[in-house]
Amino acid sequence: MTSIMRLVLSYLRTGILDSDSHEKSQKIFTINLFGFVGMAITGTLGVVASLNDNALVAIALFISSSIFLLSRYCLAKFRNIDSSANIILYSLYLLMFYLVHSGGVDNTGPLWIFMVAPVSLFLLGLKNGLVSIGIFLFITSIILFYPNNELLSTYYSQSFKLRLIYSFLTTTFLSGCYEYSRHQSYSHLKDLSQQYENLSKYDPLTGVSNRRDATNKLEVEQRKISLNKKKLSIILCDVDHFKRINDEFGHEIGDQVLVKLAERFSQLMRQQDLVARWGGEEFLIMLPDTNVAGAQLVAEKIHASLTGLTMNIIDTVPEITVSMGIAEVKAEDDIKKTISLADQYLYEAKNSGRNRTCSETFSKVV
Ligand code: GH3
Ligand code: MG
Ligand code: MG
Repeated sequence: MTSIMRLVLSYLRTGILDSDSHEKSQKIFTINLFGFVGMAITGTLGVVASLNDNALVAIALFISSSIFLLSRYCLAKFRNIDSSANIILYSLYLLMFYLVHSGGVDNTGPLWIFMVAPVSLFLLGLKNGLVSIGIFLFITSIILFYPNNELLSTYYSQSFKLRLIYSFLTTTFLSGCYEYSRHQSYSHLKDLSQQYENLSKYDPLTGVSNRRDATNKLEVEQRKISLNKKKLSIILCDVDHFKRINDEFGHEIGDQVLVKLAERFSQLMRQQDLVARWGGEEFLIMLPDTNVAGAQLVAEKIHASLTGLTMNIIDTVPEITVSMGIAEVKAEDDIKKTISLADQYLYEAKNSGRNRTCSETFSKVV
């Protein structure tokens, strides 16, 4: 039993890669599921129809069953979710048209059209789903109500036809309401998870990465340098006499200065660099493909860029200066060791008069 379940599950997971997002995996899984259920049902009904000597219906059902199977192979081979969804949906429509036209087994064929609304909405979403259902209903109505029943090879009473359309519309309405609320809840959950992700990665005051995110990214970059032998440097940057700003102008002005600093640092950096708020008024800057000399140039740019930083806050805020310590990340070292080294150089910069950068190569006074 478990091996059958495993077989079915591996069938349903066909086309899903480890690198696929949860959303994409789910969609592929669902399309495989629809294809599988469609194939099983139409295949079984095909056998029933052939046992009842209903050869045409049986052939139509077997063709549909094969198309459902085909969609699975298309998905596995080309991984084109939309095409596979369309193959399933439109072959389902064709089958429904045929069942309405022929009456299927014992004139029960039209009953299957109720699955069209939920399947269309699920595969195409609310807007496109409703458009497709509209087209489906239009064609079905033509088949049912064409003068003199010329498009029907069976007989349905007028009230049966009308009731079929009314109940189809009701199912569509209810499925639409369900799809709408499902979509709303999904969007809400997606927003929430995005918010939580932002909270866990970014500093709410400055918007730059927080310590946790920076640590993760540092570890990722460190792994890269062991592979590609490139350099990676970090700068630890602390605002000089920041306490005085808070004391003299208030905490809110202090906050604004931190925001300005984060903005300025981010503007100066390349796309691959990372600016993070490491602690209170301390920032960490990660510089991939950069050796200590390169990091020193960046530090010089930072020192030079702080002139006039506080101009837009209030006139009286004094010029802001920072002290920095630079260290190069080594593939074999614990990242904490590198940060502690940068911290030692920062300490040295503070002790030797502030507004300067120290590193293992030399101390730079600006
Ligand atoms: P130093 O030059 O030695 O670094 O002196 P400093 O005054 O900058 O250093 P100290 O560590 O004594 O003070 C840091 C101050 O930063 C104290 C703390 O209240 C302030 N601070 C930390 N986080 C925030 C924040 O989010 N907003 C504001 N406004 N102030 C903060
Ligand atoms: Mg400070
Ligand atoms: Mg500090």
